Amino acid sequence: MGLIEIASGNSVWRGMDYYENHKVVSWNKSGDSAYEGVVSGSNGENYNVHIDKLHPRKSVCNCAFADGRRVVCKHMIALYFTAEPEAAQIFLKQAEEWEREEEETTKRHYEDLQKYVKSLSKAELQECLYNALVELEECRKRYW
Ligand SMILES: [Zn+2]
Repeated sequence: MGLIEIASGNSVWRGMDYYENHKVVSWNKSGDSAYEGVVSGSNGENYNVHIDKLHPRKSVCNCAFADGRRVVCKHMIALYFTAEPEAAQIFLKQAEEWEREEEETTKRHYEDLQKYVKSLSKAELQECLYNALVELEECRKRYW
């Protein structure tokens, strides 16, 4: 698994944001599959980041989130995307693809729901509507 697969979605998107806003102050290749660099944090502090693509768990950053833990933080992702912009492009394409699939699934779901409603008799519809209204009221009581 790579850095992106190990990172949380939140870290990847925040890292993408850092990459797009040029938060990586400096970087260089430090091995066959490794980079090191300095990433500027949101509080004005700079973090020393080391990433290893082949061994993502060996990546380190001295930010509060990643320091001493084997996790992938947004600074590592920012460094990765800065060093390999094509990886950022691939990730964005993939995310678009996921979004399209998600939309397709939602659309299909509502089409099925509509088919189901149309297949019901009047008595069934009345019962469903009554149950739905009761449930709606119960929800309102719970949240308001
Ligand atoms: Zn970090």
